Amino acid sequence: MSDAKCAHSSPSFLLLFLDGVGLGEAGANNPLSALEATPFLTAYLGQSLVAEAAALRSGVLFKPIDATLEVPGLPQSATGQTTIYTGQNAPEFLGKHQSGFANGSLRQLIDRYGLFSQALALGRTATLANAYSPEYFYAIAERRRRYSVCTLLNLSAGLPFRMQYEYDQGEAIFWNIIGNAAPDQLRKPISPATAGQRLAQLSGRYGVTLFECYLCDYAGHAQDWERAVTYLQRIDAFLESAIAHLPPHVTLIITSDHGNVEDLSTKRHTRNPVPLIAIGPEAAAFARVKDLTSITPQILSKMAIAQQRF
Ligand SMILES: [Zn+2]
Repeated sequence: MSDAKCAHSSPSFLLLFLDGVGLGEAGANNPLSALEATPFLTAYLGQSLVAEAAALRSGVLFKPIDATLEVPGLPQSATGQTTIYTGQNAPEFLGKHQSGFANGSLRQLIDRYGLFSQALALGRTATLANAYSPEYFYAIAERRRRYSVCTLLNLSAGLPFRMQYEYDQGEAIFWNIIGNAAPDQLRKPISPATAGQRLAQLSGRYGVTLFECYLCDYAGHAQDWERAVTYLQRIDAFLESAIAHLPPHVTLIITSDHGNVEDLSTKRHTRNPVPLIAIGPEAAAFARVKDLTSITPQILSKMAIAQQRF
């Protein structure tokens, strides 16, 4: 079997991270229960993204998973994302949920257990699909910003970042999907459908592809129903296109780090479970995932089994 055919037969994964999406009770404070918010995904899964949801058919899994990780307090981004991308219980490791960005202690987990470096160690490839700007790295150098978890994940694996050139080539997606945010005036806006197609096509060329979107977390903190519905509609159209263009050997995994947008009665995060949606040939294997710690190990075990087969 040629290398090219071998690589194509191996399972690949597209990990789509949606910040701040929990599964809560349907109602006036939950934009995910609005019919107009996620028309595609609701029809595709056969139910809306609310509490008690569960769907499993051939190639499609949807279940609630725990994001609290048995640590008191409200789950936060840095520890939640580190847990998703390392398989290690980061809030337990730190003794608390940590918001925002990764400190020195979390970097130890990312350096040692990062999904990207572990995929590379298995002889596979990995990429961060998000578009970056020079301004981001200037801000880091000037200590006006700190690294996000996914940035450290990419750095610790020694992988390049997708910049303006890649964006112009149709090989990067801005975190807000459509690319129209200031201060980068050079970035040409694209439709959610184009962004979804870009991401799906990119995922066909790598063992693991990660894309992060923070829209729902912003809408949740703002307690803004209209903005939440607008953002969910954008994500829904993006997903519809990504799923339509998903290569047959790629399994799409969608998850979040903590609840937020599903309860607009509070501007804070929630302790609600978060969705785990798996679509593709390896979807059923994710039925055993019960919390954020099992996603990376499941991806790696599927890739390791495939490697032994060849
Ligand atoms: Zn978050």
